[in-house]
Amino acid sequence: RVRTGVAAMGQGCKYGLKWPEELTMLVVSCGCRFEKGRIYTYIGEVVVSVNPYRAMNIYGRDTIEQYKGRELYERPPHLFAIADAAYKAMKRRNKDTCIVISGESGAGKTEASKYIMQYIAAITNPGQRAEVERVKNMLLKSNCVLEAFGNAKTNRNDNSSRFGKYMDINFDFKGDPIGGHINNYLLEKSRVIFQQEGERSFHSFYQVCVSVYVCVTRQTDATISWYTDQMGSVADAMKVIGFTADELQTVYKVLATILHLGNLTFGVDGDTTLIENSKVVAVIGDLLATKEENVEKALLYRTVATGRDVIDKQHTAQEASYGRDALAKAMYERMFCWIVGRINDVIEVKNYDAKVHGKNTVIGVLDIYGFEIFQNNSFEQFCINYCNEKLQQLFIQLVLRQEQEEYQREGIPWKHIDFFNNQIIVDLVELQHKGIFSVLDEACMNVGKVTDKVFLQGLNSKLANHAHYTSRKLSPTDKSLEFDRDFRVRHYAGNVVYSVVGFIDKNKDTLFQDFKRLLYNSSNPVLKVMWPEGKLKITEVTKRPLTAATIFKNSMIALVENLACKEPYYVRCIKPNDVKSPLLFEHERCRHQVEYLGLLENVRVRRAGFANRQEYPRFLQRYKMISEFTWPNHDLPSEKEAVKKLLQGCGFEQDVAYGKTKVFIRTPRTLFCLEEQRTEM
Ligand code: ATP
Ligand code: MG
Repeated sequence: RVRTGVAAMGQGCKYGLKWPEELTMLVVSCGCRFEKGRIYTYIGEVVVSVNPYRAMNIYGRDTIEQYKGRELYERPPHLFAIADAAYKAMKRRNKDTCIVISGESGAGKTEASKYIMQYIAAITNPGQRAEVERVKNMLLKSNCVLEAFGNAKTNRNDNSSRFGKYMDINFDFKGDPIGGHINNYLLEKSRVIFQQEGERSFHSFYQVCVSVYVCVTRQTDATISWYTDQMGSVADAMKVIGFTADELQTVYKVLATILHLGNLTFGVDGDTTLIENSKVVAVIGDLLATKEENVEKALLYRTVATGRDVIDKQHTAQEASYGRDALAKAMYERMFCWIVGRINDVIEVKNYDAKVHGKNTVIGVLDIYGFEIFQNNSFEQFCINYCNEKLQQLFIQLVLRQEQEEYQREGIPWKHIDFFNNQIIVDLVELQHKGIFSVLDEACMNVGKVTDKVFLQGLNSKLANHAHYTSRKLSPTDKSLEFDRDFRVRHYAGNVVYSVVGFIDKNKDTLFQDFKRLLYNSSNPVLKVMWPEGKLKITEVTKRPLTAATIFKNSMIALVENLACKEPYYVRCIKPNDVKSPLLFEHERCRHQVEYLGLLENVRVRRAGFANRQEYPRFLQRYKMISEFTWPNHDLPSEKEAVKKLLQGCGFEQDVAYGKTKVFIRTPRTLFCLEEQRTEM
């Protein structure tokens, strides 16, 4: 098992382990392999990847050559094999495919997505067409830019992605990349104003600061030179992608504005709220290409329309601080989305031949946050965990549907598979009128008493009988839940207690109109385009902006719809320990991840079905030399008959089934025995 890299199932007793052994065995398999430096393991066609926490010499040109065009089982498990399978399916069968990468923070998702892209870049464009090379270069460069603005050091990962990312790569009829598109999801913008002990804000801030610092002091140390190096390559990458000098300048100015906003404090003098360090306001006015007094007014007043009158209402110091923070967060988020948009402008397939010729297939790569259970779980964790429920649901549907359809097509009887279907939890969150998101949106619409507590009361009355929802009110003896604060959802991956504190605020995500107008009215045209809604006059703003929950829900539904019409390939990343050690594989920690990555369902589908299937001609071609009936020639009426004879001869009859066009092999062991016999010939 260690050697073959396929997780064994059903042999737990050998290790003296108790049921449920499927889980335990999987972990034991991955652990044994990890200790031998084999970080990839298959379950069926899913790659389980364990973060090695050290540089591995397994991504070079020679390895790429070994995987290029080969079938999954012909080589030891590797990311490249999955990338190749997705590519082959796309090219040979003209199918859109996608690679879904999941796992918790620090498990290696982003590294995996980059290796996959590098692999695809390496195996395509044999003709060295300049346009294709240009596109490939852009796609690879975009990673560097997105990481600078979307990643940060956290306690779990020094280079943690604080956003979800889905990237489509478009291919022409030759199978060469001709463009792409990036979708980003839920940037953790609160990081701009607050970081946990030991954590940092987004890399981009340090890159700017440190560059200034080095210019001024000419001093450097290790961290500083890392940031200055990065700054250089990010700026280069942005230039290559096509950001103009003005655009780059504006990006730096937005970063600087946010840093200065962080220094602003408010005080009171009698009835008046005032800015304590007004020099900062002048600097901000300068950076935003607007008048100092406009900045001051937007920070201290709110324009409200009462009937036909428009009045300026002064903020309290507290409201002003709230506004300042909201502005900093919104400016960063907006800039991030604008950067993604600018990258898309450049990489999108436009007037290219392929579009005219019609055929244009896609490989999608999804690098998105895994399930999160923290000490204190809030709105963000709720969204992230909902995202994982959606992806798990998709996985169940796709894998089951695919299996079922293939068995039907091939005339092989289908056995019912028993595992938990999480649709009920997806509904609990997203159902119209009844789901948690709906209750939250309703609570936010209340006039007057809009509090987190009201939201919790709404949940309690709507979801009192839901099997996957509870709160202290509904279960008064449960001391793990706090009255008027917590609710618990039984996710497919386990129980999570959420605190409602901040839900309303984060969902409403209010940014005073005054700021939008301020930014829109800047004489910096680049900044202006980031804030088109600032165009509206106060009396014209009638529609409520969509809530954060609604935006997120819609984006997840769209994502899942998009993935559902593609052929999926999965990479499940596991973080072996919390100390970034290349030597430590903590079984309990990994067991937990295996559970919430949904691998148990995966194993069960596999157990009930077949590990591998191959078309008769291909199978025969590969293994004919191991049987006297088929080598050198066979006189059997069909390839199917020949395969039957071959497998009977080897004694594998019990482990296979014969479909119309394919032979189905139940356990990977059989396949490996065949491979072994083949290499011994
Ligand atoms: P997050 O959800 O926080 O973004 P992630 O799953 O994307 O986490 P990565 O940033 O990909 O995690 O990986 C974390 C770190 O682990 C990397 O910076 C790198 O040091 C190490 N690492 C991950 N995968 C590999 C690999 N295949 N080889 C060597 N090191 C790796
Ligand atoms: Mg990442």
